[in-house]
Amino acid sequence: MHIILVSAECAPVAKAGGLGDFVQGLARELTHCGETVEIMLPYYDVLRTTELHDLHEICADLRVPFNQHHLTCRVFNATLTGVNCVFFDPQSPQGFFQRGRIYGETDDAERFAFFARAVLEFILNSKRQPDILHCNDWHTGLIPVLLYEIYQALGMNRTRVCYSLHNLGYQGQVSAELLQQVGLEPRRLLQADRLCDPHDGRQANLLKGGIVYSNFVNTVSPRYAWEIQHTEQGMGLQPLFKTHAHKFGGILNGIDDAIWNPDCDPLVPQPFNINTLPHKALSRQALRTQLGLQTDSKPIIAIVSRLDHQKGVALMAHGIRTALANNSQVVLLGTALDPVIAAQFAQLKQETLSNPDCHLELGYNEQLAHLIYAGADMILIPSLYEPCGLTQMIAMKYGVVPVVRRVGGLADTVFDANYSEQPFELRNGYVFDELSAAGLDSALLRAIGLWHAYPEYFRQLRVNGMAYDFSWRQPAQRYLDIYRQLATTV
Ligand code: ADP
Repeated sequence: MHIILVSAECAPVAKAGGLGDFVQGLARELTHCGETVEIMLPYYDVLRTTELHDLHEICADLRVPFNQHHLTCRVFNATLTGVNCVFFDPQSPQGFFQRGRIYGETDDAERFAFFARAVLEFILNSKRQPDILHCNDWHTGLIPVLLYEIYQALGMNRTRVCYSLHNLGYQGQVSAELLQQVGLEPRRLLQADRLCDPHDGRQANLLKGGIVYSNFVNTVSPRYAWEIQHTEQGMGLQPLFKTHAHKFGGILNGIDDAIWNPDCDPLVPQPFNINTLPHKALSRQALRTQLGLQTDSKPIIAIVSRLDHQKGVALMAHGIRTALANNSQVVLLGTALDPVIAAQFAQLKQETLSNPDCHLELGYNEQLAHLIYAGADMILIPSLYEPCGLTQMIAMKYGVVPVVRRVGGLADTVFDANYSEQPFELRNGYVFDELSAAGLDSALLRAIGLWHAYPEYFRQLRVNGMAYDFSWRQPAQRYLDIYRQLATTV
């Protein structure tokens, strides 16, 4: 099968969070399975081109219909760990992808709408006949709409679309003019059963468009799939999921075990696995040295996260204080796009600057993230909602015990040491339900208590987590089953 993954992110060349890991990991596993896979991405100025091989231009002047005219787009080709990648570089006066970052621009909707149209125009012009277009999140929600409204009639009639939802917190609400800009008819599409936004009827909702027009829709964990159909986590789209329930499912993400593996990770000071777990001590020491923490008999509690409302930032701040007051050390690595949240964490960093048990690193740092997973003892994830969450799975692979709120993919992957119904060998962390300081403390204090009082039992929890198979092997098979089914439907 010929599968094209279209996304705003792909690790490690353009990653802001888990979406980047998803695209890279799934593409690589599908390639291992013998499928023909391509990844299509914007050509950001922040693209880490050193990770690419044989980057070269394949088209100097793709003419993309846009805004009643044509906008010229350069197209590049390269390989990323064996996978063919195509990059789109619009020659727009506004410099659509020349902004020094992936997201967060006021014209994000226009930037990604252009990208969607450019992808389809390129596929048509290059005479590609993909079996599957696998689109992701609101940025690519227009692709199935454009495919069925415009490109099918131009000959692209064998391609089917699988659409993955990684976060309903971002739906891409846009004005009707934007639809016109990409060549769609706003009057036809701004209907309740098409793109009309359930929150504001004058606007179009690109995520909704993707859901309505795709042949199959999934989200990234079974629990989140249930939550968005049946609770307010659906963020206004619950009725839509009911209507489209026949083509909707939940598939838990994997993690790429060629990258996230403490036994062969070049960023881990001394490799370790289940059988050589004591070697983790060297990583713990290296982490303390690098971040200026004192050496002491205390667990290191980590947070590696976007600092966003969704991730439970107020509870994170509380958790940091609880940990420091209870014989523990804290390491946080996080970035905040929201200036209010950024200021709160800058203040917390200031307060804890002279504390030898605490280091807050405010920024994005892939290398430090690896060392934190390798050196930490616990990871704290108090999310309000969590479509899948990768950090708990990565952490477990590195012998780190997760302390999480029971939502979305966290509920599907973390099983409480004391209260889970799983057999003991499948219990791997600590879980709380209530979205409150008391709720968080009920889990975090049990974890810290166990580390101090029963180290052997704590070690067993680490081992239980490390033994889980979180690889892409099973999820990729599930996607392949879906693709095959779609490819045979007319
Ligand atoms: P989300 O996609 O919602 O941000 P996930 O848990 O699915 O959250 O994925 C987060 C990914 O981003 C993980 O690979 C994590 O290690 C990485 N990450 C998050 N914040 C940072 C940061 N500040 N520096 C480096 N890596 C980060």
